[in-house]
Amino acid sequence: MSTHVLVLGAGMVGVSTALALQQRGHHVTLVDRNARCLETSYGNAGIIQREAVRPYGFPREWRAILRVASGRGNEAHYHLGGLPGIALRLARYWAHSAPAAYAPIAEAYERLIAHCLTEHARWMDECGAQDLVSRNGWLQSYRTPAVWHAAAAEALRVADRAGLDCAVLDGAALAAAQPALQAPMAGAIHWKDAWSVSEPAELVERYAALFVKKGGVVLVGDARTLRQQGRGWAVDTASGSVDAEHAVLALGPWSDQATRALGYKLPLFVKRGYHRHYRRGATLALPMLDMEQGVMLAPMKRGIRITTGAEFAPLDAPSTPVQLHRAEQSTRSLLDLGEPVEAQPWRGARPCTVDMKPVIGAAARHRGLWFNFGHAHQGFTLGPVCGRLLAELMSGETPIVDPEPYSPARF
Ligand SMILES: Cc1cc2nc3c(=O)[nH]c(=O)nc-3n(C[C@H](O)[C@H](O)[C@H](O)COP(=O)(O)OP(=O)(O)OC[C@H]3O[C@@H](n4cnc5c(N)ncnc54)[C@H](O)[C@@H]3O)c2cc1C
Repeated sequence: MSTHVLVLGAGMVGVSTALALQQRGHHVTLVDRNARCLETSYGNAGIIQREAVRPYGFPREWRAILRVASGRGNEAHYHLGGLPGIALRLARYWAHSAPAAYAPIAEAYERLIAHCLTEHARWMDECGAQDLVSRNGWLQSYRTPAVWHAAAAEALRVADRAGLDCAVLDGAALAAAQPALQAPMAGAIHWKDAWSVSEPAELVERYAALFVKKGGVVLVGDARTLRQQGRGWAVDTASGSVDAEHAVLALGPWSDQATRALGYKLPLFVKRGYHRHYRRGATLALPMLDMEQGVMLAPMKRGIRITTGAEFAPLDAPSTPVQLHRAEQSTRSLLDLGEPVEAQPWRGARPCTVDMKPVIGAAARHRGLWFNFGHAHQGFTLGPVCGRLLAELMSGETPIVDPEPYSPARF
């Protein structure tokens, strides 16, 4: 039965959900406080990570934990003052990363991410986004031979089990694949199934334009005004109050605030991240993660986008882009990076859950309220398949994957 649905949040997850609902005959109004895509779906590294069959667990090895705790590693940074507020959630994240708890999580994640390319391809074909997309995979590179050997053996095991295409490149093969490199590296893993996008926000905006072309409505409004009204929901927008039978919260890192306001205590937290572009004549042939320095280098329309690892800090605490400064320094030993394009780095936040899986499904205590958030490190990848999954649940269709591992009721 066709109904009117409010989708709150127009990042990759919200726009994809709106498209999937519209495809099933629902009348959909998409509401965001910004008229453009400016948040997490804007600032990511733009990789559609078909190979990411294992979500990022909390390091369990003491050497890795000590590296982060002592501030020696660049893959993570934390605000000491912010830790007490998230300590319990980090402890649960740590517990879910133990091998016995992690195994079923990774199995569920793998079943979901297996559909990421086909679900993106549907909307890319319809909106004409091929010019933004490269289908050549990405490189996970290493500076130290022993670390590269160990990682390559593990990558081959994962690829074999999950049916992924990956090649192990030695230093010479890496230099050939990435001609802009000016210093030797030990080697790399080339994940060949993944796609990359030269301007992530533009892809989201093309999906949103497709939604509008097909009759969808996009309005500027504040999700904090969401309230129950009659048998449904209402929200205030710049065009007045809009009501509908159903409301979907797809607010990425702001979902915690919205769900708390409605009385839900979901174990959500954020891992903040930064980016900045650097422009010079040479560019990268493929996105490349400098694993041991915790630096992702992504070729974008605006130059090479450096993105950083996880920063554990409150969502709105002032920016502390120490990881970006270190990333810039370490990258200058590999590449002729040039000057930064922006005066200040961009800052965003990955919306995370303690069990590494997104929250997709019906809210337990409110009729007509639905959740789709918590996609952490892979929300740009997962938006379309998770949008489809939620739309199927809302429409009473057979879901593309078993929805139980993602149910809000698991908390
Ligand atoms: C540095 C970095 C690199 C990353 N790289 C990758 C990658 O390569 N591949 C990948 O798959 N993922 C990557 N990610 C993760 C990915 O970007 C996120 O998981 C994804 O963008 C989340 O999408 P979303 O739609 O849930 O959230 P968002 O894109 O943040 O969208 C949420 C929307 O809600 C709106 N909103 C918030 N509050 C309100 C309100 N009160 N009223 C109305 N609207 C509101 C915001 O304006 C925003 O548009 C990366 C993340 C970071 C930070």
